Amino acid sequence: MPTIDRINGFADELTAIRRDLHAHPEIGFEEVRTSGIVADKLKQWGIEVHRGIGGTGVVGVLKGKGSGGKRIGLRADMDALPMEENTNLKWRSTIPGRFHGCGHDGHTTMLLGTARYLAETKNFDGTVHFIFQPAEEGLGGARAMIKDGLLEKFPWPARTSSTSSSPATARTARCRNAQRTRS
Ligand SMILES: [Zn+2]
Repeated sequence: MPTIDRINGFADELTAIRRDLHAHPEIGFEEVRTSGIVADKLKQWGIEVHRGIGGTGVVGVLKGKGSGGKRIGLRADMDALPMEENTNLKWRSTIPGRFHGCGHDGHTTMLLGTARYLAETKNFDGTVHFIFQPAEEGLGGARAMIKDGLLEKFPWPARTSSTSSSPATARTARCRNAQRTRS
């Protein structure tokens, strides 16, 4: 499985990113540090970056080797929850009243790993839009991105693949109830 082996090579970097995001959680529309890290990483891997889509939202655009016109959107959410973290993790939250209790630190990191892999290999035909959404936890981050022209500037005719929901679908209740420990 060459694909998995290659991504395994990213494991240390991705683990470090996720633990750093976990230690510095930001709630909806306040993801300034988080979106800055996302933008820096995407740029570092040679991906075209658009910031300020829906406030703190970020979109990366990557074309594959092929000349085809197909497009797809891959999405992750970046915001944390307004709650205390009661864990003894080394990378536990350093910010009172803020906790990545819903796993968006993981979602963001997963999409960054995907972006790095696709940027390095470009073994696809068409364009990928990496959509890093703010404020998934009930504050309307998807709506804000759409209002800012997400679907016109970065269109994709196919269904969006997402770590937890499509841009138009909120699953806030599930997120709010998630208080499990992230390791
Ligand atoms: Zn959530």
